[in-house]
Amino acid sequence: MSVLGFALPLPRAETRRYPAAMSDTPWRERAQTLQFPTQAFVDGRFVPAASGRTFEARSAADGRLLAELPECDRADVDRAVAAARTAFEDGRWSRMHPRARGKVLRRLADLVERHREELALLETLDAGKPIRHSLRVDLHHALQGLQFYGEAADKVFGEVAPSGTDGLGLVTREPIGVVGAVIPWNFPLMMAVWKIAPALVAGNSVVLKPAEQSSLSALRLAELAAEAGLPEGVLNVLPGFGPTAGAAIGLHPDIDAVAFTGSTEVGKLFLRYSGDSNMKRVHLETGGKSPNIIFADAPDIDFAAGQAAIGVFFNAGQMCTAGSRVLVQASIVDRVLEGIAKVGAKLQPGDPLDPGTKQGALIDRAQFERVMSYIELGKQEATLHAGGAQARADSGGFYVEPTIFSGVDNQMTIAREEIFGPVLGVIPFDTPEDAIAIANDTDYGLAAAVWTSDRARAHTMARRLRAGTVWVNNFDGSEITTPFGGFKQSGFGGRDKSLHAIEHYTELKTTWIRLEGRGATPAG
Ligand code: NAP
Ligand code: MG
Repeated sequence: MSVLGFALPLPRAETRRYPAAMSDTPWRERAQTLQFPTQAFVDGRFVPAASGRTFEARSAADGRLLAELPECDRADVDRAVAAARTAFEDGRWSRMHPRARGKVLRRLADLVERHREELALLETLDAGKPIRHSLRVDLHHALQGLQFYGEAADKVFGEVAPSGTDGLGLVTREPIGVVGAVIPWNFPLMMAVWKIAPALVAGNSVVLKPAEQSSLSALRLAELAAEAGLPEGVLNVLPGFGPTAGAAIGLHPDIDAVAFTGSTEVGKLFLRYSGDSNMKRVHLETGGKSPNIIFADAPDIDFAAGQAAIGVFFNAGQMCTAGSRVLVQASIVDRVLEGIAKVGAKLQPGDPLDPGTKQGALIDRAQFERVMSYIELGKQEATLHAGGAQARADSGGFYVEPTIFSGVDNQMTIAREEIFGPVLGVIPFDTPEDAIAIANDTDYGLAAAVWTSDRARAHTMARRLRAGTVWVNNFDGSEITTPFGGFKQSGFGGRDKSLHAIEHYTELKTTWIRLEGRGATPAG
């Protein structure tokens, strides 16, 4: 199973649970009657913003108005943090038996499973992603996360230090306190779960700000968490804007740790917020410009080319891991370009509510304009091989054709800056050394892929690529069991997913106990 669930086939059992085409389900009809959350979730209930102000939640799919949401700001963050702090200090969750906390999370997973189609529809309407992907990818991974951390709750052990006979050193993990989480819009529910689940299972209280473009699924998740038995105040969700609500979380003196996923630029702000306030712990998952390296000895060049296309065009390219720099050994450039174009042609944007659609919308006009400006720049810097235009212009949403540039040099702007759209550049190389030099010549280090039949080369490349994840002969393989995050300016201070994620949400405590004898071993 791959992290985004599209590169590798789903296991057969999963295919049955997540059928590709739900043509018997009238999605468009159901969209007409779907209920949308309209308030913030604070201290166990839905409330308006303290200011009474609201903003419009519009569908990325077609621009329709879905809901008026409260525009939370500092006053709401204060209120949510106070509720979270009270819940943490009185121990209603933080001192609950870990097994009992796990049970609540697993109950939440069951509820998410039961409301899977409703949540997928919310996600598709809000973020404009194809309904088949909301079901098979976003919901699948959100569920996996809740189940995994629900099961992990009572399986995180401490340590006993190898001390002398007169002392006993215990090393334990304690919840850190109140955790702030600020997330982007590309996988709204999945990102929320990746932050919330490990933080909650460790015993913390959480204040989450979803991206302003995609708050609906997180609000519904909070409601379901209450139904699952999560005590009041433990999970709070505040719709609002980055510079107000987001900054208030970053600067809050009573938030102990922040978990952020989003752009590198805003990630750096969170480091400043921490320094300017209470030195809260900061965990950043930020941007990427991942190299996808295809050698002439790849086991199946056409398959590699197809995966290279999907590795960028999936989710309309709005992926931090997007393999947007396709490094191809010079002798096979034409064949790979042809393979990428062939798959790209099949991924033309369509109506996200149609179960056959494999390519959805960009999140909003601003993102569309950003992507189109990079495409215009690409036309000057390199050669436009395919795509490059807006699609479905009369839909009310913002769609872009899968776009391929050839003859790209790694110094060009389109090879250096994160585009976050369905745009890739093919960069030729000659030797493995060239490939490593080009691949690592970037500010980012989130992921990289290598396609080769030579096992020694695969391992050597994997060692030398400066990235948090390296894929060999696949793009985007992973499960909830493996950590996810970046080197360099792709991340800092921790990892999402796996048991390692719990580390960010816990403090390590040493307890020294004096045993019988002349005196405890000195602490330092
Ligand atoms: P973004 O603009 O950085 O926003 C992310 C979150 O930060 C949003 O909730 C946003 O609120 C908030 N924010 C914006 N400005 C802020 C400020 N001044 N102070 C505090 N918070 C602020 O990123 P995005 O455009 O939503 O998402 C795209 C980026 O996310 C890309 O760079 C992508 O690579 C990255 N990403 C990384 C990963 C990873 O795991 N490494 C995964 C997915 C995405 P608003 O709603 O107001 O914008
Ligand atoms: Mg934003």
